[in-house]
Amino acid sequence: MKEILETRTVRVGENVLIGSGHPIVVQTMCNTHTSDIEATVAQCKLLAAAGSQLIRITVPAMADVKHLEEIRSHLRADGVNTPLVADIHFSSEIAMAVVPVVEKIRINPGNFHPDHEKARALFGQFLGLCKQYDRAIRIGLNHGSLGKYIVEKYGNTPEAMALAAMEWVEMCIEAGFYNVVVSLKASNTVVMVNAYRNLARMMKERGVVFPLHVGVTEAGNGDSGRIKSCVAISTLLEEGIGNTIRVSLTEPPQNELPVAQYLAHRYSSAPSVSLGEREETILKAACDYGAPLLNHEVDDIPLEDEYLKDEILQACRRKFYKPEYIACPGCGRTLYNLEETFNRVKAATGECKDVVIAVMGCIVNGPGEMADADYGYVGEGAGKVTLYRKKEPVLRHIPENEAVDRLVELIKTDQAK
Ligand code: SF4
Repeated sequence: MKEILETRTVRVGENVLIGSGHPIVVQTMCNTHTSDIEATVAQCKLLAAAGSQLIRITVPAMADVKHLEEIRSHLRADGVNTPLVADIHFSSEIAMAVVPVVEKIRINPGNFHPDHEKARALFGQFLGLCKQYDRAIRIGLNHGSLGKYIVEKYGNTPEAMALAAMEWVEMCIEAGFYNVVVSLKASNTVVMVNAYRNLARMMKERGVVFPLHVGVTEAGNGDSGRIKSCVAISTLLEEGIGNTIRVSLTEPPQNELPVAQYLAHRYSSAPSVSLGEREETILKAACDYGAPLLNHEVDDIPLEDEYLKDEILQACRRKFYKPEYIACPGCGRTLYNLEETFNRVKAATGECKDVVIAVMGCIVNGPGEMADADYGYVGEGAGKVTLYRKKEPVLRHIPENEAVDRLVELIKTDQAK
């Protein structure tokens, strides 16, 4: 491992410290509806017991601020003190409303307002509130949801992602607010690794390095999701980049934790985790070979297990032996059975060639986040689905029970042309 990138230390709540010198912090996110207080409290307890050191909960509407408050009260009353992170998209009002309620708030300030100057002003107000309540924040910019202003000004490359983040980093420094973590996730492992490298370099040059939350977004599920996450996250951790991690899987969130714990232990003094033999073999191989493949130091890897070798090569974008799948992990915004649908899509499209297929939980963030996809299946709510070709919605309001077949038909018709 190279030298660890020296960062500031961020404190979340009373006890969680994120930053160089501290063990890597593992976290995950609830996929229950935030309005379902009982289910969310139960899931938080399960995740806390499984070792999640931070738990993120989506706050899609103003009414959910009250729900979040109730969830927190129940947890604290039952002795579960894991800091909560509110996940906010687009609404600066909701972002400001949750500041008194939770220990950390995840926002993309660029989406606070379509007018960039207004977005900056709102972010300034938000920072003032966070300072007042002594909160931590995560500036989370995902590839594919950078916003019109950023894409027009900087483009949509890994360097552009880092430059866009630096604008908000600079505002935090100017405001004297340092309880900041930054993330630049992407589902494409090459884009993701390069975005974080650029940001680490730019912050170092600026002389203020905030801790980094590292993750591959929409990694999918099963072995592929685990391998995709491990090759990219381990490549960065090898370079000393990364202080807190989330392994996003389209599976129950507790399944993410052993993978994150394996990575945290391998690259820091975080506690070890006991894994099944097969899982350990897969994660170890992904970590051993991820960096050399992503860095183009090798073209092939000495693995006899052809399936595992193909999966690692595909995760590193060195060989495409099957369709590339992008699937979000789901959250309180998901309005259909994402895990089951994703598995059905995979089963029905496994033979398709040279294609990137996305399955996304909601229409609010799904279309933006599936940046690289050729085709997308996006839940609209109320049993309806929109199918996308590239970024264009081509079939809207398709009943859920027909949508997988219509997606396959769309892909096969296009491929036959
Ligand atoms: S795209 Fe998926 S994870 Fe992201 S907000 Fe929508 S449902 Fe949640």
